[in-house]
Amino acid sequence: MKLPFFKWYRNVSIAKKLYFTVGIMALLIAVELFVLIFSIHTLSSVRAYVNGEGLWSKAQKDGIYQLLKYARTHDEADYIKFRDFLKVNLGDHKTRMELSKPHPDMAIARQGFIEGKNHPDDIDGMIHLLQRFHNEEHISKAIAAWQGADSILSGFVDIGEQLHAVISSGHPSQQRINDLLDKIDPLTAKLTPYEDGFSNALGEGSRWLEHTVLRMLFIVALTVECTGLTLAITVSRGIQKGLKEILLSSRAVAKGDFSLKAKAFSGDEIGILARDFNKMAAELERLGKENQEVNSSLERKVHQRTAQIESKNKELEQFAYVASHDLQEPLRTISAFVELLQQQYKGRLDENADKFLNYLLQASERMKVLIKDLLDYSRIGREKESTQVDCNLLVQEVMADLDKIIEDTSATVHTSTLPVLQAYPTELKLLFQNLISNSIKFRKADQKPAINIGSVRENGHWKFFVQDNGIGIEAQFLERIFIIFQRLHTRSEYDGSGIGLAHCKKIVELHGGRIWAESTPGEGSRFFFTIGNELT
Ligand code: ADP
Repeated sequence: MKLPFFKWYRNVSIAKKLYFTVGIMALLIAVELFVLIFSIHTLSSVRAYVNGEGLWSKAQKDGIYQLLKYARTHDEADYIKFRDFLKVNLGDHKTRMELSKPHPDMAIARQGFIEGKNHPDDIDGMIHLLQRFHNEEHISKAIAAWQGADSILSGFVDIGEQLHAVISSGHPSQQRINDLLDKIDPLTAKLTPYEDGFSNALGEGSRWLEHTVLRMLFIVALTVECTGLTLAITVSRGIQKGLKEILLSSRAVAKGDFSLKAKAFSGDEIGILARDFNKMAAELERLGKENQEVNSSLERKVHQRTAQIESKNKELEQFAYVASHDLQEPLRTISAFVELLQQQYKGRLDENADKFLNYLLQASERMKVLIKDLLDYSRIGREKESTQVDCNLLVQEVMADLDKIIEDTSATVHTSTLPVLQAYPTELKLLFQNLISNSIKFRKADQKPAINIGSVRENGHWKFFVQDNGIGIEAQFLERIFIIFQRLHTRSEYDGSGIGLAHCKKIVELHGGRIWAESTPGEGSRFFFTIGNELT
């Protein structure tokens, strides 16, 4: 079972904990100071009593001296001096008697000590000491000695009075005087032990007080230190422990582990922080799980769509392949019969019929080409097999194939060193062939074609370029040219069916890369393509 104090201390705010610690320290230091001041005052009062005892003793001795002198001179002035000296001792006696009453009159008590020739500044302290500590062992011993001394002092007063009566009688008896004087020495002898007893008791008392005070001061100082240290350690341990919990939990959360909760040991700011952190982590975990659900559902959808697209693409390719393959046969029959018609009936029908037959023949020839292109396109990648391809040799082969046109157009082809890479050789060759032949085909009328082929290593893949000094392409058509059967010119201007760059795009994508063109119309074009590293 925990004490209510500890419960309170655990849950109170850190600022209050610190105030409490500082408050306790201040209180203990105040206690220490109070003890110190009290002890100094007490010791100072003891010192005043020792001093007072000296005055008392001196006055008594001076008084006796004056009494002896009076016995010799019979001078009234000497007797008065005797009385005056004894007033010191009687003053102290008056104070002691007043203070022994249950309700002492402080004015009388003070007056007594003043008559005892004590310093006025010491008097209050002396009175307090007597009041507070009269039962204390040493002080009560000193009081007993004082009482004893006072009773002897009254003996001296009696002797003085008797002596005064004998001398002032007018017929003093010397014998009587001598008898009275003989009583003085025994009394003095009796007084000495009381005087010694008083001083010794006070001396012992002050030594005891010194030790006690020093011990007390030491204990209080130790308590101040220990309390301060304990409280400071408790507060800082509490903070450290709480923060460590939060730190461990936050590290775990950062790694995605939400199971490690931060323990809240207290109800202070650190405890509140730990609880808030746990709430935040729980919220994060909840949000994460939403996100996860959304992500996985998105991923599922993307997979589904990709599979659908891939299957549709395959279907289309299959369709294009089958259609173009199967169309070839009837088309061949049509053109064969059109040719036959033309051969057998040319000039036997009217002029228009000859023209129409001619158109029919041309159209069926064009259609043959289109269907063949389509078939080629759908064949790309069908029986692909990757191998290590030396692009330098590949380009050389292409140039050998294009030898005639290169020669006819006086084209120059400059090739920098190309890489050896894993690729589909037939397709890659077709790619270079299309790009190089386009560079020659779309040359400027008044300029010999100059072609530049090169490659650079970039972001882990190879980037190739085929650059020419041809007619160039306007910026708005730079993307359209890669679409199947898209052409920028009529066949009478430049021969072709508009499938070459569509082939190129399909081949590059087959190699995990992309193709694009940059061009300045009237100055030339530069075709870029990349080949990825993934092929094995
Ligand atoms: P084709 O060459 O049969 O016309 P392509 O698909 O190869 O078909 O090219 C599509 C179009 O892109 C071409 O008709 C031409 O207008 C343009 N083109 C292709 N290559 C070049 C080039 N090197 N310079 C200028 N235009 C080009």
